[in-house]
Order: sequence, then structure tokens, then C-alpha cells
Amino acid sequence: MLNKVLIANRGEIAVRIIRACSEMGIRSVAIYTEPDRYGLHVKRADESYSLGEDPIAGYLDPLKIVNLALETGCDAIHPGYGFLSENAHFAELCEQKGITFVGPKSAVIARMGDKTAARESMIAAGVPVTPGSEGNLADLTEALTVAEGIGYPVMLKATSGGGGRGIRRCNSAEELKQQYPRVISEATKAFGSADVFLEKCIVNPLHIEAQILADGHGNVVHLYERDCSIQRRNQKLIEIAPSPQLTPEQRQYIGELAVKAASAVGYENAGTVEFLLTGNEVYFMEMNTRVQVEHTITEQITGVDIVQEQLRVASGLPLRYRQEDISYRGFALQFRINAEDPKNDFLPSFGRVTHYYAPGGPGVRVDTAIFTGYEIPPYYDSMCLKLIVWALSWEEVIARGRRALDDMRLQGIRTTASYYQQILAHEDFQNAHFNTSFVPDHPELLNYKTNRHPTEVTLALVAALAAHAGW
Ligand code: ADP
Ligand code: ADP
Ligand code: MG
Repeated sequence: MLNKVLIANRGEIAVRIIRACSEMGIRSVAIYTEPDRYGLHVKRADESYSLGEDPIAGYLDPLKIVNLALETGCDAIHPGYGFLSENAHFAELCEQKGITFVGPKSAVIARMGDKTAARESMIAAGVPVTPGSEGNLADLTEALTVAEGIGYPVMLKATSGGGGRGIRRCNSAEELKQQYPRVISEATKAFGSADVFLEKCIVNPLHIEAQILADGHGNVVHLYERDCSIQRRNQKLIEIAPSPQLTPEQRQYIGELAVKAASAVGYENAGTVEFLLTGNEVYFMEMNTRVQVEHTITEQITGVDIVQEQLRVASGLPLRYRQEDISYRGFALQFRINAEDPKNDFLPSFGRVTHYYAPGGPGVRVDTAIFTGYEIPPYYDSMCLKLIVWALSWEEVIARGRRALDDMRLQGIRTTASYYQQILAHEDFQNAHFNTSFVPDHPELLNYKTNRHPTEVTLALVAALAAHAGW
């Protein structure tokens, strides 16, 4: 078993990994940059080290991080999600310096991180992929020819893209001409690669993804699926496990496809295979070679601690579960509580959390790194808290979600919480009838009343009275 692990991340996922280490008797080492000096992951780790003033640079410096891991006597690095988690060069550097990278081999990351290379691997393995271009596009002329062949609408996608960025739907040649330079520029800025490719746009699909676990002894299992169809701008907002929209046959088929995909590329550790589903058609979309934001809901329905399994597998141990050992129970929902103003086009709303009261009670889990008084820095992701609820039935999990969202108090910043209440109150959601167009199809759900907390109202009243009375 590993003795000491450096966590190359911040925020809630760093705290999540520290918790797993702590339960397993593994020492944890946090890294931080100056804006994160008072971050929860810094406080909770056994040791923590500053990687400089720049908010981001330290978290993205492979050499500095690997050297620190060596100097502090760590035997492994857990990359979390985002940052360097899908950086093959980082994983390779770990391999060269004798540090265990908690994830698949660097060659597998390189292959699956490149969306066109991943598609080729899947085609070779007999996994159905979304119809699209063969490899990257040379130029706009080729894009137009390929699109003509596939038929509009098409999706223009950055080959190294992630986090919902570098993707544009094009309904016509005209739109493709317009979007082509935009996607290239976005991809170059965000991912350092100008490579793009085309896929057929699957209209109104479900986003269904399967969680897999694989060890270094050739064992691969799936932990069933998650439905992440509730998205805005191709980014997930609410995630559900298992999908309330699949038949048992579809569930089994998708789980088996994911195992097939992972086995075909010699995958090790935890990973997610993402699919688009329309009617009875299933298409491979991409594989995320890391722990995902929404791994939590799979943990709630299966009882498997995915982060602990990652650490066990990384230390060379075989999986503790065969496929037949894994079952699921009930439903889980995860709400990504983002520091954003849904009413203002989801504009980030960073600042001080003046008051935070955590929801609790039966079936409620919160993964976060915020606390009352915490100042959310503007340099990072706007997701500041994950609220996860579990219950035996679909009806009950919705009721529990509504209750838990209502329990929570998060003041000082705007968040997506009230917007989620509107989604949960919608009958299509309650009837488990939704796809990736749910959010754009229901702009009216943004017309809710902003719920000012009584203290804010009271303060405003006192201020008004004071002004009036000339206090
Ligand atoms: P998940 O697939 O786990 O649901 P998201 O797509 O929400 O994850 O991404 C999780 C985090 O990782 C976000 O902060 C996102 O911006 C970042 N991220 C994902 N893919 C990439 C990428 N290719 N390059 C840079 N950042 C990425
Ligand atoms: P990322 O790496 O940013 O997660 P994905 O390739 O996983 O990018 O796509 C993100 C989302 O974009 C999907 O969940 C889906 O809603 C939408 N999307 C991507 N490709 C297609 C497609 N070919 N047809 C329809 N929707 C798509
Ligand atoms: Mg994706």
C-alpha cells in the first residue's frame, strides 16, 4: 500500500482525496499557490507546500510538483480532475522519476485525451462511435466537404477539448464557416492545440456515462452509469445515478461497452466512458481518464469508494470486486452548486461566503472546501460545492433534493441552487423525461424570484430607517 501521497489539486477534490488517504492511513501532502494559502485542503492535509505567488502556475508545473513529491518522500501523486490530471507528459514524468501516478499509463492518457485518436481506438475495438471525420480536419474546405457527407447539423469539436469548451453546433455550411475560426482560436487558447474534428450532431440525446475500475492485473469492472443530460452549454449541472431513463437491457449493454472500451486500450485505474444515446442507438463520445466530478453519485448507489479504489489499484493491488459483486441501490443526484448568477447568463459570482449553513439529515452528502468567511478566489472553477442526495426511489430522491437545497444557506455570493429548485419542480424532470436540450428548452425556469435571506432584508430595512431618521 502507498505510504504518502501528494495531491496535485485544490478545492473540494483535494479535500476528497485527503479524506480517502486519511481513512486508509496514508499520509497526505497538499500543494497550494498563495491565493489558496487559507484553503481547506491546505489545512486538512498532513503537510502542505507553497508553489508560488501565481494563482495557477504552481498547479500546472509538472517538474516542480514531481520534484516536491520526491523531496517530501511521497510514493504517489493523485492528480484529481482538471489541472494536470489528463496531461500525459505529467504522468510520464512521474513514471520516469519513479513516482506512482494515480491514473492510467501515460501512453493511455495520450491516446484517450486526443478525441480523434480515442475514436480510432474505439472503432478498432468494435465500440460504436458518433459518425464523424476521419481524424483531424486539415482546413475549412475539408470541414465543409466532410459536413456535407455527414449531413447537418454537425458538431465542430476541439480534439484536446474538455470541460464543455471548444464545441460548437453548426446547423448549416454558413454556420460552419463562421464557427470554424472561433473553435480553432478557443482550442488554441484553452488547450494549446488547434486540432479540430467533426461529428454528426445527435439531436436531443441523453448523455450517459459509465464508471469503470480497472487494475494492473487485467481485471475491469463497471459501476453502472450516470445520466448527465442536464447541462448548460455542454457543461453538466445535475447528475443522476443510475439513469431513470434506461431499460435494464440498455444499462447492461452500456456497462459492457464501457468495459470493452477500457479493456481494448489496456486501461488501469478509475475512468469514465461517455456515450450519447438516442432511442436505442448508443455512440461512444469520449473517455475521461481520471476521477470525475460526479463520481460521488456512483459511490452513493454502489457503496464503492472510488477514490480509495484508485489508491489501492495504483499501489498494485488487484480489484476487490468482480462484476457480479457490484450492485446498486436507489437513486442519487448531484447538484453542482456554482458561484454563478443563473439570471445573468451564469456569470461567475466570486467573493466572500458571508454565511454558510450545511444541509444535512438522511441521505445527504456535501463535498466542498468552502466555510463561513471563505473568500472564493476568482482564478479557478466556479463550482464551489457538490450537494449529493440519495434515496430509495426516484420520487423520494427528488423530494430529498428539494429539501436539502432548501436546508442549505450560502450567502454572500450568487449560486445555481435556486435554479435547481426550479428544475426539480418541473414535471418533465419529475417524470424522468429529459435530454441534453432540457436547459435550453426551458428558459422560463430562470424566471424565479431571487430569495433574499431575512437577514439581508432586515439589514436593508435598518439601513433605510437609519437614513430616514438621520441616525
Ligand atoms: P467531469 O467530466 O468530471 O464532469 P468537467 O468536464 O466538469 O468534468 O471538468 C472538470 C474540471 O476539469 C473543470 O474545471 C474543467 O474546466 C476541467 N477540464 C476538463 N477537461 C479539461 C481539459 N481538456 N483541459 C483543461 N481543463 C479541463
Ligand atoms: P468535453 O470533453 O468538454 O466533456 P464532450 O465531447 O464530452 O466534451 O461533449 C460535451 C457535451 O457536448 C456532451 O455531454 C453533449 O451534451 C454535447 N455533445 C458533444 N458531442 C455531441 C454530438 N456529437 N451530438 C450532440 N451533442 C454532443
Ligand atoms: Mg465529456
